Amino acid sequence: MARHPVNPPTDGWSLTLPPRFWAALTDHLFRGDKEEHGAVILAGRADGPRGPRLLARELILAKDGVDYVPGETGYRALAPSFVRDAAVRARDEGLAYLAVHNHFGDVAVGFSPVDLASHERGYPALRQITGQVVGGLVFTPQAAAGDLWLPDGSRVDLAEVVIPGGNLIRLRPRPARAGTVDLMHDRQARLFGQLGQESLGRMRVAVVGLGGVGSILVEGLARLGVGSLLLIDDDTVDETNLPRLLAAERDDIGKPKTVPATRNARRANPQIRLTAMEERVETSRARQALTACDWIFLAADSHAARFWVNAATNQYLIPATQIGVKIPVDDDGNVGEIHAVSRFFVPGNGCMWCNELIDPTELAIDMHPDHERAAARYVAGVPAPSVIALNGLVAMEAINHFMLATTGMHHDPEDTTSTIHLPRQRERSAQLPRRDERCSWCSREGHLGRGDT
Ligand SMILES: [Zn+2]
Ligand SMILES: [Zn+2]
Repeated sequence: MARHPVNPPTDGWSLTLPPRFWAALTDHLFRGDKEEHGAVILAGRADGPRGPRLLARELILAKDGVDYVPGETGYRALAPSFVRDAAVRARDEGLAYLAVHNHFGDVAVGFSPVDLASHERGYPALRQITGQVVGGLVFTPQAAAGDLWLPDGSRVDLAEVVIPGGNLIRLRPRPARAGTVDLMHDRQARLFGQLGQESLGRMRVAVVGLGGVGSILVEGLARLGVGSLLLIDDDTVDETNLPRLLAAERDDIGKPKTVPATRNARRANPQIRLTAMEERVETSRARQALTACDWIFLAADSHAARFWVNAATNQYLIPATQIGVKIPVDDDGNVGEIHAVSRFFVPGNGCMWCNELIDPTELAIDMHPDHERAAARYVAGVPAPSVIALNGLVAMEAINHFMLATTGMHHDPEDTTSTIHLPRQRERSAQLPRRDERCSWCSREGHLGRGDT
């Protein structure tokens, strides 16, 4: 398959498609039969820092000859009954209605005069019926354009379609043109290209948990040139943290962990935009902030943190990487198998619930206020072992994965496997996430793509 153009995130209206939808849409539209095919996407909505985000919640493929038929004026059109059924659902569920078809071409696409005439005939009435955003989208395998009719009576172009899979694909009507790259990032841009480096610079990335793993993530992401970091941790530095927090000093003891993290990020990149939150990720402010990110790194091991990051991934279609090191030690001090894991979670592709990574009992305890939480655990917490080298092994692996995905460099954009290291056995294996079809988070029966809707 042709490589997608590398397009940095851009301002304006966007549509995010779970990769599973994109794969199904690709199979449906681009069959090599030299025909046009059609579909409808129903989408939730959220606000993002670059503009409103439409979040695909359901993909309805139109059957050729039944739902997608020769039109009165155009070449082919969605059948009136198909349009009506989808529009009624959009109205009832408060979702945007987006009609989709394909054109032939590669990195550029636009509507034909016949397309635009049919939008002008159909969309004012559909907008009236649904009370929601309605519009048309046209795709080639490497480009997308959209014509959106908003409930307030205005009409805007869709700026980009985002597909957050193994490569973070962004489709536009035509490829972005490269600007200039800072001399500081010259050697990187020789790998990523200027547009790849610009993509990193336009990314807003969250790091949840600023302990041993989070500390390395922050340093690495800032030095790569990620433009904006959201740092969330309510913990303070104690003496036993010093061997694992990059550039931490004795003077940092007693200060919030956000302090050494923000200092390191600024040293790495004085232009970086930082938001530091000294609070638990469960607070509504922190949860809200997560939904405005392009990628989330989860380096905190509480089940509540997993719950909220998982919610952001599936409800707001934001990819997430969970990083953790597990060193089991029994009561006699025997060390068991060490697992160092970097798990990649793609919206709609099998989530932390499907993969039994959220324990309902632990989650219930985590959701208690601080003082009750300590009392709720039967055994007083014994500090777990923790070592910088094991943290670094998976933190850097996670950053590499993010870097290659953001710059579109992974060979297989559909590869969303996670990596598990067993360092004592010197083994490394890939693991595909499980997906429960009826999961109440990552399926269309659940919260997938709901956004603020
Ligand atoms: Zn067309
Ligand atoms: Zn799930």
